[in-house]
Amino acid sequence: MSASEAQPSAQKHLFPHQPHAAASSSSEKLEDGMTKLPNGVILDKDGKPCRLCTSAASWRNLTRQAKAQGATSTSTSSSTSPSAASKPVAESTSLPQTRDDCPPDVEALGRSTWTFLHSLTASYPAKASQEQQGEMRTFLKIFSRLYPCWVCADDFRTWMAEPSGRNEPRLSGRADFGTWMCEAHNEVNRKLGKKEFDCRFWEERWRTGWKDGRCD
Ligand SMILES: Cc1cc2nc3c(=O)[nH]c(=O)nc-3n(C[C@H](O)[C@H](O)[C@H](O)COP(=O)(O)OP(=O)(O)OC[C@H]3O[C@@H](n4cnc5c(N)ncnc54)[C@H](O)[C@@H]3O)c2cc1C
Repeated sequence: MSASEAQPSAQKHLFPHQPHAAASSSSEKLEDGMTKLPNGVILDKDGKPCRLCTSAASWRNLTRQAKAQGATSTSTSSSTSPSAASKPVAESTSLPQTRDDCPPDVEALGRSTWTFLHSLTASYPAKASQEQQGEMRTFLKIFSRLYPCWVCADDFRTWMAEPSGRNEPRLSGRADFGTWMCEAHNEVNRKLGKKEFDCRFWEERWRTGWKDGRCD
């Protein structure tokens, strides 16, 4: 993906979710003097790399590339953050694959958010009042605008607003809402080439625990 391709206006082409193995740490100078970004790096609306939209592997390739080029940019290198500045170089440059004290990538953010969203359906009333439905509708509308991975948010909003109306939130009660959220999650699973979840089991996964007792 070239830097010129990676503009917010070209977002549909921007989010191919290449497998991590496809990410490249090599940098490449383009004819116009711009630098090719490593595969999988998504730009934010301000044109800077969006960490929350990018996998940890692609992000590491980006920071390696910036370091290799001796870049002094403040936005893409963790070594320029105030907290990193006080740390030994070895610690800030050789991060292991998984650490739990680093900013989330698109996957960690997604996992945590799905936990929150499905838990929201699990605690939703079996039969929701008009007021509860209205509050949840407002929440989903705002959520779909503010979700920090903006490309994810755009796709989620577009899915909800499908012209036939078939993807509108179903909020009459827990069963409907839980199934709707499962379908929303499956839409993302499909987009990413992941296995779909059988929505008949959403409640065992997120509310009651599995019938075989493994969660008891
Ligand atoms: C609104 C939203 C939009 C997103 N859009 C993108 C995107 O465009 N591109 C991108 O790279 N990432 C996106 N993500 C993140 C992505 O969905 C995953 O969270 C991330 O890839 C990590 O996936 P995972 O395999 O760990 O499991 P996750 O997909 O995070 O799922 C967590 C757990 O939920 C359960 N589960 C899975 N599917 C379902 C389901 N349908 N119903 C109920 N439970 C289920 C499983 O037990 C699974 O282990 C988005 C996340 C959210 C919340």
